[in-house]
Parts: sequence; structure tokens; C-alpha cells
Amino acid sequence: MNSINHVENSIQILKSVFGYETFRPLQENIITKLINNESCSVIMPTGSGKSLCFQIPAICKEGLGVVISPLIALMQDQCTTLTQMGVKVACLNSSLSFDEQYEVIEAVEMNQLDLLYVAPERALTEEFTNLLRKVDLALFAIDEAHCVSQWGHDFRPQYLQLNQLLDKFVEVPRVALTATADEATRNEIRTQLNIPSENEFIGGFDRENIHYEISLKNNPKKQLIDFIEKEEEGSSGIVYCLSRKKVDEIAAYLSSCGYRAFPYHAGLSSDRRTATQNKFIRQEGIIIVATVAFGMGIDKPDVRYVVHFDLPSSIEAYSQETGRAGRDGEPAKAWMIYGFADVAKRGSMIQSSLANEQRKRIESRKLNSLLGLCETTKCRREVILNYFGEKYTGVCKNCDTCLNPVEQFNGTEDAQKILSCIYRTDQMFGAGHVIDVLIGKETEKVRKFRHQNLKVFGVGKDKSVREWSSIIRQLVAADYLKVDVERFGSIKLTEKSRDILTSKKEINFRIDPGPAKKYKSKRANNKVIKSNFKENPTANALWEKLKEKRLKLARDQNVPPYMIFQDKSLIEMVEQKPSNDSEFLAINGVGESKLAKYGDLFMSVIREVNGNIKL
Ligand code: ADP
Ligand code: ZN
Repeated sequence: MNSINHVENSIQILKSVFGYETFRPLQENIITKLINNESCSVIMPTGSGKSLCFQIPAICKEGLGVVISPLIALMQDQCTTLTQMGVKVACLNSSLSFDEQYEVIEAVEMNQLDLLYVAPERALTEEFTNLLRKVDLALFAIDEAHCVSQWGHDFRPQYLQLNQLLDKFVEVPRVALTATADEATRNEIRTQLNIPSENEFIGGFDRENIHYEISLKNNPKKQLIDFIEKEEEGSSGIVYCLSRKKVDEIAAYLSSCGYRAFPYHAGLSSDRRTATQNKFIRQEGIIIVATVAFGMGIDKPDVRYVVHFDLPSSIEAYSQETGRAGRDGEPAKAWMIYGFADVAKRGSMIQSSLANEQRKRIESRKLNSLLGLCETTKCRREVILNYFGEKYTGVCKNCDTCLNPVEQFNGTEDAQKILSCIYRTDQMFGAGHVIDVLIGKETEKVRKFRHQNLKVFGVGKDKSVREWSSIIRQLVAADYLKVDVERFGSIKLTEKSRDILTSKKEINFRIDPGPAKKYKSKRANNKVIKSNFKENPTANALWEKLKEKRLKLARDQNVPPYMIFQDKSLIEMVEQKPSNDSEFLAINGVGESKLAKYGDLFMSVIREVNGNIKL
């Protein structure tokens, strides 16, 4: 078959195998390149549909598509999902028994597979090269390709050696995929894997369905419970904390409040972690409290919220972690609370790390950009997207600052008070002491340094400690002040400070909503999914019955429910009530294989509940 036919074919496969009507942006371009034997690199956010970009050409083209993926759990997930759709796929990794591995190898040799998932260690063996030499190859896909980057946060030495394998098959196109965006990593991927720069595809980083909310930490546990309480029952969520100790504490706290919450961190046995992960994937209403170790290998599409109970390390990390919410495109939430202590802690983690000075400077800058996001008066989405170099101007109407615009005030004079206070106390003290001097509080430390005699002592009496803390944070975020983490978190002036001291620049501050103030968007999005059903008892009953059927099938086959059908498909069944094969095929996410396997089962549930058979 020539490549034009293949391209036409790819649209058919999208429909008949995956059950989708149209390609998402960039998917078609990437698929066409690969079909025409050109290598590409694909940088698109989590949940945007990267996998389809190599799965479809591997199915269309003759020969085997080899997918190199470092995460065994994810590999197995994709295999099961694809098998459900009737794709000929297998994976080769250390979790298989000797016999099972032999079976896979045999299937490869007999050209029975479209796709083979393999771990990098295995891909680098001589046996594997020899195996590939015996068969036709359609493409190589290198998933999580940022692992080649030595600057990246997830460097894996085996990834650097992948070229040894790829170079033995120069005529086979390769596609590198990652959700990590920064430019240095992108360039490294292309150089390492020898991909032409014109074939780099960068997808939009906007995740429209994610609602962003960031607030100040004041009573963290209560804030967390208030947030989770408003979520629909049965919603799955992830709560990220900075330390293992905190993870254990918060998981225990949530359990004591009656939630099904489980801790996940590197200090737990691997059996326990696997069991927790499986529970999360297979059951409804599980909350995982975790360090960042959790999530990398998880493809669960219906995570409804991601909480940052502590500050992440950068906007990259924040968007990668929040990106795990709502892969199915349905409304989801990213909710974070933070305080200045978090910033100081992150700062000292950077300083005490083993990285070199240049690296530390980069990390500090990243942390500051994140603080800028926290303190912004602009649309959160705008700040995030601009950070990734994407032009976007709010209002997105799906973040806290858009839905509840932040009030501002001209704070030039306040800023001048702080800056001169810091200057006069020799830039040697942290925020707490500076504020004590401003509000005229005679502490022991104040007396020790005779700061009660300074002109600035008590010039800020008109504001509370909370208000001054907020202003200091905002000055740090806007680069008018910096925290010197090497000197115990003392606050120092920057080059920009002069502009304010000389009144060359006016500055506005946000008024932080006090703890009592409620967000208008409180009950916002998650409820939207089924809100149409609420007033309609028949629809509601059907929804419940369809979910029941899905759960039963999932249990019988020992797969997660979303691999049978995602929520989106069930919702469409409730709305469309398909009653014959072609109507059932028109449901989003239904391809030929799922029609054959499940069509009659689900249509009979629909008939039963509605009692009306369309003719
Ligand atoms: P990524 O690998 O980028 O994290 P996935 O490939 O897992 O994302 O896709 C995320 C979800 O979007 C999956 O449920 C997938 O089936 C769905 N999806 C991908 N492409 C399309 C499309 N063209 N139309 C509808 N849904 C799609
Ligand atoms: Zn917004």
C-alpha cells in the first residue's frame, strides 16, 4: 500500500479502532510524517493524545512498531487498553515469566504484532537487536523522551545509549515523545536522537478543562477538607505533599475524616505501593496522598482533582503534576495552598542540594516564577502559558483570579517603607523581624540590635502582620526583593529596588482574600458532568446502571473500569440512547472491537431502563 492510502487509512483507524471522529491538533501531521518515514519529536502536555501519534501509524504501516517506555506500569496499561480495542500488541519486560516472554518473542518473529512495548534495558540487549533484524519495522517510539536529557529532572543513562540501537535501523522513522517543555531539554532530545528541527511538534499547553485555584495556607488541614468535601462522591484525587512524613500524616488525617485515602512514597515497600496504585486505578473514590514519586506511570483518565498541599519546585513541575487531572477532558481541578515558609523551605532545599552553582541559580529562578504565579493578579492560565512561551491573554473564566478578580491597591508607599526598613537593618534579617520593626513591636531581637531607635520603627503600624507578609511575598515575586537562602533566609534588595525607592515606579499589590472569603466558583465544575441528569430520574437511573455494568465487566476481566468505557462514552450513551449497531458505533470511544464485545450488553441495559425500543 502506498503512503497516501496509509494516510487515508489512518482516519479510518481513528474511527474503527479508537472510536473517535476527528484528530486533535497536530496528531494528523505527526502521523503523516511517520507514515512517510520521517522522524519527529512531539512535545505535548499529558492527556493531549500523544500515544495515538505512534499507535495509528504502527497499525497502518506494515511491520512492527517498537515503543520504548521506562515505566512498566504504564506499558501494561497501554497494552490492556489497546487489547480491549482489538489491537495486536504485547509488552516485553521483566515482570513477565520466561514462558510469557517466549510467547511474545514468537509472536514478533511471526509478524503477528502491530506494536511491541519494551523497557530501555531490554531494548539495549544484543538479543533484542537480533530479534528486530528478523522482522519488518514500522517505527520506533521513544516515550518519556526527556529521560535523555542530562539536565532534565528524570535522567536515565540507558536513554543516552538508545542511539546504539536506533542507528542500526537508520531507515526506520523514530518519534520521541514527552510532556516536558523547556527548551534545553527539547534541543537535547533532538540532538541525541537525531531528529530534524523542522519536525518538532509542540502542542498547546492549555488544558482548558482544568480549573486552577491557588490560595494562602492558613489552616491547611481544614482548607483541604473544605475543598475535598465539595467534590462529587466517588471522585478520585491526588494530594501532593513535600515530605514522606507529611504524606503519612495527611493520609491518616483524611482517613480519620472518613475518606478512603492512602499514602504513597518511596519509603513504603514496593508491594504496598503497587497495591495502592492498583486500588487507585481500579476503584472509585480513592485519594492518594503522595510525594512526587506518584503519578509518572499512571494513565488514569478520570482523576478529578490534584491538590498541592505544599509548593512544588517550579511551574514545570506544577503543570506536569496538575496535568494528571482530567485527562479525559472532563472538568477537573488543580488546587494549591502555599505560604512563605514553603518558599523558604524550597529555597534551602535548592541550596543544600549537590547541584552546581549554575544549576542552583536556574532552580531559584524557577522557584521565583512559581511564586509569581501564586501572587499574580492576572489569569493563572495566562501566567502558566506565557511561561511556556505560548501567547495567551486571559480571561479564561476557569481559574480563581478570573472568576473572582483580585482587588488591588497602589502600594508604592508601603513598598518604600519595606525597602527602606530592609536597607536600614542592613539586609540581614528575615521577613518576621522586618515586619516586627515595621509595626513597631519591641521584641528581644529588636532591642538587641537597637532597631527601636530606627526612623522606620513603627512606620507600618497601620497594617497587620498578614498584610505585610503578603506585600513582602509579592515584592519577592516581582523581583524587587530576594530571599538569600544562604544567609538563613534574610531578605535583600535587588537591582530593581531602586526604581521604587526613587518613586520612578508605581506598584500595585493584590489584596489577599481573607480566610473567611468564599470563592464564587466553589461548586464549580466537577458537578457539571452529571448535572444534566440530576433533574431527570430516568437518565440518572440509566447512568447508574451503565456504571454498574461497566464495573462488573471490569471486575470479571480484572481491568480498570475506564478501559471498558470512559465516563464520556457512558454519558453519551445516556444522552443518545443508541439502539442499534450503527448508533452505538457513533458513540465517542466505541470502535469495532468494543461494539462487538459490549454493544449488545450495554444496549440491553439502555432498553431495560428506558423500556422503549426504537424501531
Ligand atoms: P498522552 O499520552 O498525551 O498523555 P493519551 O494518548 O493517553 O495522552 O490520550 C489521552 C486521552 O485522550 C485518551 O483517553 C485518548 O484515548 C484520548 N484521545 C486521544 N486522541 C483523541 C482524539 N483524536 N479524539 C478523542 N479522544 C482522543
Ligand atoms: Zn483565568
